[in-house]
Amino acid sequence: MGKKCRLCGKLINNNYDLCYDCKQSQKNKLKLPKDYLANGYFNEKKILNIDLIDKTAKLIAQLISDKMTSGQLRKFYGHAKRIYNQIQNGAEFEELEVEIKKITAFVAEARGKNKVGNDFYRFICINMSCIKDYDTFMKGFIPHFEAVVAYFTYYNSKK
Ligand SMILES: [Zn+2]
Repeated sequence: MGKKCRLCGKLINNNYDLCYDCKQSQKNKLKLPKDYLANGYFNEKKILNIDLIDKTAKLIAQLISDKMTSGQLRKFYGHAKRIYNQIQNGAEFEELEVEIKKITAFVAEARGKNKVGNDFYRFICINMSCIKDYDTFMKGFIPHFEAVVAYFTYYNSKK
């Protein structure tokens, strides 16, 4: 019956494969890579860097999942997605740029109220500084954020 921690072998009675202490120390090792978005969203062929919807999105989801609720995350994602839909329906990126950049202020407020962690705040700040035009928002930020939300849901469901 007894389940053992994958790292230290201590008996555990939760649904993880790690004991609490090992889980905490693993988490402390996770952080945003230093070169996160240093080269923007796209590769030299102007295609979205696959890591941004795969391993980087997973890492960010893990980083933020303990310090915010899915309701909070969906609120910010919902705001971004509404702007995305408006642009899809013909609005100009330039008309909505201010609405996009307001996300930073909303997240700063949530950070001040301790509703989100510092990693999510940094995630938003770095992304906002990378959004410069139609492509970086519609084909860069939105698919990346969407993947983060999807992995967030995955990690939260395992709690
Ligand atoms: Zn352990």
